[in-house]
Amino acid sequence: MKITRISVHQLDLPLAKPYFLSGGRLKFELLDSTFVRIDTDEGIHGWGEGCPWGVTYLPAHGKGIRAGLEEIAPLLIGEDPRQVDRINRLMDITLPGHLYVKSPMDIACWDILGKVSGLPVCEILGAREPGPVPIASSISTGSPGEMMADIQFYRDKGYRVHSAKVGANVDLDIARITHLSENQKVGETIFYDVNRAWLPREAITVMNSVDAANSWFEQPCETLDEIAMVRARTTQPICVDEGLHAFTDMPRIHRDSIAEIVNIKINRVGGLTKAKRLRDFCLETGITMLIMETGGSVLSDTVTAHLAQSIPSVSCLGTWSCQEMLTVDPAPGRGARNIDGCFIAPEEPGLGVEPDMDILGDPVAVYQ
Ligand code: MG
Repeated sequence: MKITRISVHQLDLPLAKPYFLSGGRLKFELLDSTFVRIDTDEGIHGWGEGCPWGVTYLPAHGKGIRAGLEEIAPLLIGEDPRQVDRINRLMDITLPGHLYVKSPMDIACWDILGKVSGLPVCEILGAREPGPVPIASSISTGSPGEMMADIQFYRDKGYRVHSAKVGANVDLDIARITHLSENQKVGETIFYDVNRAWLPREAITVMNSVDAANSWFEQPCETLDEIAMVRARTTQPICVDEGLHAFTDMPRIHRDSIAEIVNIKINRVGGLTKAKRLRDFCLETGITMLIMETGGSVLSDTVTAHLAQSIPSVSCLGTWSCQEMLTVDPAPGRGARNIDGCFIAPEEPGLGVEPDMDILGDPVAVYQ
């Protein structure tokens, strides 16, 4: 099987309402998403999506994906998309780094591999573990009351896991966390995502001042060095998210006991092939996971559902449904959807989701 054509589509994904990270420092209203379709000489095709969360969240942006694909895509014509490790090596040789550029290409190859195998992607990743995968809400930072109202909005959709964004100043964050923790229901998880906004001093002060049961603190500071400092002076569970860039970060997180949890964002780490390697390391070392995307439509959400479905539930705390925050749906009725606050990976071969071409429009670039 050979890749004969790679088509790149761009779609704006407006958020239903503005979203704020880190005490309002970062505001988001629109996501710039890139869809990649790979066609083969055997008539089978696959889809992938890459969608950074704006331009300020990570060193990644929508135009960057399309510029990187200009370098990578021509060299993959004629290659076998089923050989995902080889495809990844070729991409890494062609364009070192820039992992988020490669993710939609890699995902489209897994979609093809699933279709050829006649199996859903979770099963070719190794398992369809029983039970649905809980979806974590993403609660924009705000006043304690505003954040609680947002949590109630998602409770009404069945959600039992909530990612509350904090990271302003010590007093306000203690007030927020105290209010949300006091109103946390039995069987519900509220965790606090700082998105690297605290200095170690602030993290240590807040984390040692609050009583946050059944919870954890995600990416409290910018770097792994800073989080290691916090780890040594606190007892709350810590999750590394933005600080996990590539596989080589993972042995250090484990060896230095920096975090008990990692948030594997598939786009950030370079796609399913590389996320699978991280998954396996975590399973071998007892580190718990969240499986998410940096953003995107139902297509991205469905990729996370497949990887999360391949992990035993005790090791996977949940995923995220970005689609619920958008006003555009490029694949109506298809893919992983919220069922009582959970995803179930589709049963069809491949990803089990196909964009509607009338919504996606014409490609912005074609390589063949
Ligand atoms: Mg996070």
